Order: sequence, then structure tokens, then C-alpha cells
Amino acid sequence: MQIFALDKNFHPVEAAHALKGTDYTCVECQNPLRVRKGPLLIAHYYHFKSSPSCSQEGKSLTHLKLQLALKKKLGAKLEVFFPTIKRIADVVWEEKKIIFEIQISPLSGQEALDRINDYKSQGYEVVWLLYDRGYNQLIVSDLEKTLTTYPHYFTDGKIFYDQLSHIRKRTRLKKLFKREIELSQPLIPEKDPFQRNWTLSFENDLYNSAFLNPKELEEYREFKRDRTSFSVLKEVWRYFLLKGSG
Ligand SMILES: [Zn+2]
Repeated sequence: MQIFALDKNFHPVEAAHALKGTDYTCVECQNPLRVRKGPLLIAHYYHFKSSPSCSQEGKSLTHLKLQLALKKKLGAKLEVFFPTIKRIADVVWEEKKIIFEIQISPLSGQEALDRINDYKSQGYEVVWLLYDRGYNQLIVSDLEKTLTTYPHYFTDGKIFYDQLSHIRKRTRLKKLFKREIELSQPLIPEKDPFQRNWTLSFENDLYNSAFLNPKELEEYREFKRDRTSFSVLKEVWRYFLLKGSG
């Protein structure tokens, strides 16, 4: 399902403004779509006949809800087609040159890298938003492993959050509290005490809290008490020790 489709003049029409019983066209697979809407339902298009290879068809209502939340919050555009790379981006924040990719279903790390590089060629940074029914779980997925050094956060469908976790050999042994982030406030990180080397950071994420607000160190201290071998935390400690002595 999706939020946008083309009318018979190939103009994009948001589902909220579409007419019931009228054929629209899928931007990706060009198959016919119809609109579904009601008082308690997010207006969306569905494929009139199943089109299993179309990634738009595979999107769930949760996915659409998150897209719409970002549209409202950031004034971002949804389901934008990039003809040069033949991709449809979930959420495009033109003003800041950021693309948000919402990921609910499994995805390979390689496919993620391909998307990151494709969008980079169009002048955009990708920020991944991973739905925590399938991600941020006990076993670290191939996608999460690949995204370690790329900006990504989690969502439970209501908030977007960053979370420090203790990972050993693809197993998430322990998590610190969820830290709700403010996606409308992106910034370029300097040297990150967590050494994630992300190209983007957002207000109230881990980078912000540790780097800009040292009083939060107590939580990291608690976290560390249980797990002495967590190398990222060692780096955090070293950072603050050096800072404290200088
Ligand atoms: Zn389609």
C-alpha cells in the first residue's frame, strides 16, 4: 500500500484526495491502484490486482502511518521517484537533503548500502528508521550490523528513539533506556564519543547526550557496572576522563 499514486494525467495524487472506485497508477510497477479510506482508516492506495514484486505493495499501514507522521512534522515529501537511480524514497526532506528510509521488513545489509550510495549520488544522506518489532531485538540483524556506522534509529510506531545497547557477537545482551530523539533538529556531529562516525546526529540522541550533556554520565556509569568489557563504553569513559583532566 502507499500514500501517493498517479492519476490518468500522470500527476501524483495523495490518497486522502483520491476518488473511490477510480483507477490510479502505481509509480513503481505501473499497475492499477484503488483508494481505501474511512473515518478510522488512514487513506491509502492498494493494488487492485496483487503485484508481488512491487515494494510499494509490501508496505504496511504502520509504514504509512510513520511516513505521514514525518510529512506532518518536517514538511517532507513522500514516495519521491528518483529517475536516474530508479528508486522511490519513502520520505524526502528536501530542505535538509535527508532521506528517511522506514524499514519494517527484513532487508540485507548490501541492499541498504546500495540505497545509501544511490541516494548519495543524488546529494542525499539516508537516515534509517527501523521498526522495533523486527529490529533492536536480541539478535542483531545483518542490516543493523551493516548500519553500525550509518545514522539509524528505532521506532515503536509512536516515537523515534536512540538506544545504547551492549552487543557481543551479534547478541544484544543489555539495553539502556530509550532516548526519544527530535528528528526536526539535525546536526553534523564532531568527534563522536560513541565512535559511530555517523554523518548526521539529531537532538537528544546518544551523541548529543554524551557529548553535550555530561551530567547524563551517571546512567552510563550504571550501565557499565554490569558489563566491563563493552569497548564503546570504554571509549566514552576515556573521553570524559580526558575531558575532565584537561
Ligand atoms: Zn506497485
